[in-house]
Amino acid sequence: MNQNKHSGLNETDLKFLKRCLELAREAFEAGDEPFGSILVSGDGRILAEERNRVNEINILYHPEIELAKWAVENLTVEERKNAVMYTSGEHCPMCAAAHGWAEIGGLVYLSSAKQLFEWRSEVNSTDTPIRFYPVEEIISNINLKGPAEGDLLNEIKELQLKSAERKNK
Ligand code: ZN
Repeated sequence: MNQNKHSGLNETDLKFLKRCLELAREAFEAGDEPFGSILVSGDGRILAEERNRVNEINILYHPEIELAKWAVENLTVEERKNAVMYTSGEHCPMCAAAHGWAEIGGLVYLSSAKQLFEWRSEVNSTDTPIRFYPVEEIISNINLKGPAEGDLLNEIKELQLKSAERKNK
């Protein structure tokens, strides 16, 4: 397990991660937790977008599992293998498993689950009903990149901290 071995994000990756950040912000502003994800085809087109809707729909409505379901319903196995999911935060184990079963070839995350845990520790907000594992411990074949650095990472951190503080109230 090499948690920080996957960076090396290019300009295209950063552009798609910015879109995930926008969706995460949209979720936060709607009262949900700040997570947003997109599915991109092998030739670089955005196929589908989702954001967290845990408050709006139900506790299992994470963007990544929804995109994995969308991919299974709308793409061939070959198209899924060539597709990449971009996400503002590394998948939880539920979404990682869905991603794996859907055989979506790539994953690029803005921040890792480990980073999120560390940020939430700063505001004493680390309670979750499940344990987290790095996605590569759950998905056997995954082309992985992340986390990002610099401004983009700071923006999602700030949003996550605001969300954790809102939850603590
Ligand atoms: Zn999830």
